[in-house]
Amino acid sequence: MLEIKNLHASINGKEILKGINLSVKAGEVHAIMGPNGSGKSTLSSVLVGNPAFEVTEGEVTFNGKNLLELSPEDRSCEGLFLSFQYPVEIPGVSMVNFMRAAVNAHRKYNGQAPVSATEFLKLMREKRAIVELDNKLASRSVNEGFSGGEKKRNEIFQMAMLEPKLSILDETDSGLDIDALRIVASGVNKLKTANNATIVITHYQRLLDYIKPDVVHVLYKGRIVKTAGPELALELEEKGYDWIKKEMGDL
Ligand code: ADP
Ligand code: MG
Ligand code: MG
Repeated sequence: MLEIKNLHASINGKEILKGINLSVKAGEVHAIMGPNGSGKSTLSSVLVGNPAFEVTEGEVTFNGKNLLELSPEDRSCEGLFLSFQYPVEIPGVSMVNFMRAAVNAHRKYNGQAPVSATEFLKLMREKRAIVELDNKLASRSVNEGFSGGEKKRNEIFQMAMLEPKLSILDETDSGLDIDALRIVASGVNKLKTANNATIVITHYQRLLDYIKPDVVHVLYKGRIVKTAGPELALELEEKGYDWIKKEMGDL
């Protein structure tokens, strides 16, 4: 589904990603862990096409297409979804209008007619249930005045509405209490099928108790320096990141 080869990316002339290789197949859950500042959010920004970052080398294919040639909108329509580490508030844009515009953009891209009002409301109701998102929040402006936990839950609600092929969850667990974490994780698990894939970016093993990864990677200084099974997350939880830094000759 996703094939990243030797990806290098910079911001303001500073190289952040220094040769990322990653391959994700349908049905898989990958976790990307790593210390703060290692480039995890940069990788997700580059994949969804944030124009602040410049790709200087490498290739990314998504379902056989050259992802780097597509606009951010087309990447979304092709089935790529990013849940932001810091979801933004969009005052004056209601959740209902925002979601209808997004759903219809996807439908148009796939040659389908716009969603009818009744069908859309039914869809909203169904998907809200998955993350137990209050109807009142759905009628407000996007994320405006939402608590940290509500914003994260709203991200997974949007993911549920758009049914992406590949979802990247960038520290969706940060700022969540244990109940919200369970709701968010169970939402992600309910949306999992054999045809989609998930990349879970997280600092901590905690989220991975609920969302079981098939593969765990450690990103450090812009490179994937370790790849293993779920046991790697437990090892990191126990030992922290210092042993990785030692192995890389930095401690
Ligand atoms: P992580 O998500 O792993 O904590 P980030 O991808 O956010 O790491 O950041 C990686 C590095 O890129 C950090 O050194 C950070 O300071 C730098 N960086 C990220 N965004 C910007 C930016 N807009 N301008 C300058 N440097 C940035
Ligand atoms: Mg960080
Ligand atoms: Mg980050």
